Amino acid sequence: MIFVNEPLIGDRELEYLTDCVRSGWISSAGEYLDRFENAWAGYCGVRHGVAVSNGTTALHAAVAALRLQPGDEVIMPTFTIISCALAVIYNGGVPVLVDAEPDTWNMQTDQVEARIGERTRAIMPVHTYGHPVDMDPIAQLAAAHDLRIIEDAAEVHGAEYLRGHVEGGEWVRCGALGDLATFSFYANKLVTTGEGGMVVTDDDELAASLRRYRNLGFAPPRRFEHHELGHNFRMTNMQAAIGLAQVERIEETVAKKRWMAAAYGERLASLDGLQLPVQLLWARQVYWMYGVVLDDDLAFDAEELARRLHELGVQTRPFFLGMHEQPVLRERGLFGGESYPVAERIARRGLYLPSGLTLTEAQIDAVCDAVSAALGRGRTG
Ligand SMILES: *Cc1c(COP(=O)(O)O)cnc(C)c1O
Repeated sequence: MIFVNEPLIGDRELEYLTDCVRSGWISSAGEYLDRFENAWAGYCGVRHGVAVSNGTTALHAAVAALRLQPGDEVIMPTFTIISCALAVIYNGGVPVLVDAEPDTWNMQTDQVEARIGERTRAIMPVHTYGHPVDMDPIAQLAAAHDLRIIEDAAEVHGAEYLRGHVEGGEWVRCGALGDLATFSFYANKLVTTGEGGMVVTDDDELAASLRRYRNLGFAPPRRFEHHELGHNFRMTNMQAAIGLAQVERIEETVAKKRWMAAAYGERLASLDGLQLPVQLLWARQVYWMYGVVLDDDLAFDAEELARRLHELGVQTRPFFLGMHEQPVLRERGLFGGESYPVAERIARRGLYLPSGLTLTEAQIDAVCDAVSAALGRGRTG
């Protein structure tokens, strides 16, 4: 079986981790945490990094930092992971949705304005599967309506956005395009700590508030006297030791993903019936996962393609199912009667192929042969 992901853990990770364990600093204080936070924030081009236990708690903490009033709204794509909606709901807010773009699968930025109302407090763009969201229109709307921007950058470590879309303009790294940005370091993300996450921001006050929030609301001058509700969302120094080694070779990791995408692209471009990932002119994407979408005129859906590929020894994962189609959210009275046709279509016709950092050229050949065989069977009935 060729797995959809296998993490790449090198000798440097083992060296730092061993050093960390031997030092005895195995909980959430220690020098690896500081170094990892600084290295990651620095790489993203922002001043503060606040490491947390995972990408979901990063989103939770980032939304908490906005101090929503009950019923305040946050605009997000329907085509995302439930972590985004959970972060808003658990903070007393209401997620408000927009559809996906058919080419990048990111949020349709031209639908955002119509969803802004009196209760809107923030926009949460989610950079999907490696491709940056078009951030200029979002920044303009945020400025005009006094909204905060939280980027969910879990899937775009290292991706860049060309501000203004003008040649010779400024390329800005995802994570530095909003007020706050969140990352996940789950095992399938470009940089992994096993489980882990981080919120990054340039704002000193937001950073201080996030540091209190992840640590039970502890704050000087008196430990165990609390003025705010918090959580234990701390990352361990051991995770940070692995993370630091991973950040040190992020360029190599991004290059590997781009090599993988080019290799897939060369082999799959000639197949009829498949939509492949794009890279728009103002984006430097990182191909977190290599997604494909079946054309509408193929007689079977992604579930059937996944079944056929599995038979041929290739593991895949389905695309997201939109938030407006989630039973648990609809049961709560959310998104009644709403429909988002692009998200609904790609949820049924999209999947991603093996995209891990250990993937070899021979494996990519084998995956593409399997895809070709699986598609061919569709056409001959
Ligand atoms: C992975 C991911 C998350 C959640 O991260 P965890 O570390 O698994 O909690 C959130 N948002 C997006 C877009 C993700 O891909």
